[in-house]
Amino acid sequence: MSSVLIVGGSHAGVAAASALRTEGYAGAIKIIAQEPALPYHRPQLSKEALREEVFSPQPLRPEGFYEKNGLVLLCGATASQLHLQDRCVVDANGQCHDYETLILACGASPRRLPEAADPERRALYLRNFDDLRALKARLGSARSMAVVGGGLIGLEVAAVALAKGVSTTLLEAGERIMQRSVSRSISNYLADRHCANGLDLKLGTTLASIERQAGGKGDVVFLEGGEALNVDLTVVAVGIAPNDGLARAAGLQVDDGILTSEQGRTVDPAVYAIGDCAAWFDPDKGRHIRCEAVNPGQDQAKRVAAAIAGRPVPALGIPRYWTHQGAMNLQMAGDVHGATKEFVLKAPESGAFSVLGFQDDRLVAVQTINAPRQFMQLYQLIGTDSDRLTAELDWEFPPSHHH
Ligand SMILES: Cc1cc2nc3c(=O)[nH]c(=O)nc-3n(C[C@H](O)[C@H](O)[C@H](O)COP(=O)(O)OP(=O)(O)OC[C@H]3O[C@@H](n4cnc5c(N)ncnc54)[C@H](O)[C@@H]3O)c2cc1C
Repeated sequence: MSSVLIVGGSHAGVAAASALRTEGYAGAIKIIAQEPALPYHRPQLSKEALREEVFSPQPLRPEGFYEKNGLVLLCGATASQLHLQDRCVVDANGQCHDYETLILACGASPRRLPEAADPERRALYLRNFDDLRALKARLGSARSMAVVGGGLIGLEVAAVALAKGVSTTLLEAGERIMQRSVSRSISNYLADRHCANGLDLKLGTTLASIERQAGGKGDVVFLEGGEALNVDLTVVAVGIAPNDGLARAAGLQVDDGILTSEQGRTVDPAVYAIGDCAAWFDPDKGRHIRCEAVNPGQDQAKRVAAAIAGRPVPALGIPRYWTHQGAMNLQMAGDVHGATKEFVLKAPESGAFSVLGFQDDRLVAVQTINAPRQFMQLYQLIGTDSDRLTAELDWEFPPSHHH
């Protein structure tokens, strides 16, 4: 009988298993999932899970889903070796799992500070439920915190801490926050709002090292340049590295992610890679792109599942992302850095708006604050020109007061 083995039981892996059944795949499906908990919603870890006093992870699918769909879910199991020739994965207990088709959905892990910068391992990171537990235990009694890294996770954690009354300093090495994922206008808007909520934002600032406070429980955070901060805890969120070690050791091509074709296939035709661990070839850009968000990984999962089931492969949607920071719900999609002009479109909700990024007169990027319906409308319009936009939206384009 045909069989699919999936390594990694999170957003991408579970989406693949589910999509295989939706596409009518009737073979055996097994998921090797390292974390002991039933697969859960990871984005909550830096949002409601951190904010709320008591929290248990929200499962991606109810427990009964797996059995009902004939999915074998091995929680707490780690794939430690992959033998391409024999088409088998060996787990940490030495057990061999054969496959006809393998889907690698191993995700990513936080980039950690080098030992020299944090010899006592004072820094806290946030990727899984264990990390959350450790962070909540420390945050509960904290009065001050340092966050290193002004990306999505650092800012979400800082926003929760501020709302709890924790005095929070955020160090960002770059000249603006969320530089990788949003345009300057949105960076500035977010920074203003966080600072108005009391965030002490230090841009262009790099951490040198972390030490335990002499005689205290907290940390001393030394900055490049000599300044020192005394804080109760330090969260480091300076990006992630793909979990591509298993693939690399097996001889698959790896370069900041497992390299695949535009269909998600690795150099071994029996092996696919999806989600945060995978770098898919993007024919438009002419290079491999690795996404770090839920929606793109789920889109990849659907495509791979259709290919395996021998069904028509759906088009790959434009990757979209979201983040909740305090009262701000930001959604974004498209080529924010490729836009040469930006216009602001107000949304009906109070204080809500979208920033539309254009190349010539084509909409290439959308960034929306607190207006999910407007975002979805604009998302569908990415790639269209200003005439179409003017017709679709009740909006004069380009707005006469801008240039
Ligand atoms: C705190 C936080 C907040 C986030 N917020 C957002 C957000 O607001 N919006 C958004 O779009 N994205 C957000 N993300 C990113 C999003 O969670 C990831 O993009 C998504 O989880 C990727 O899914 P994945 O299945 O590819 O990988 P992962 O979720 O990383 O899952 C991979 C799984 O594979 C397991 N695994 C790894 N190696 C092995 C092995 N050898 N054997 C068995 N199992 C293995 C891992 O333990 C893990 O459970 C957030 C992430 C974090 C950490």
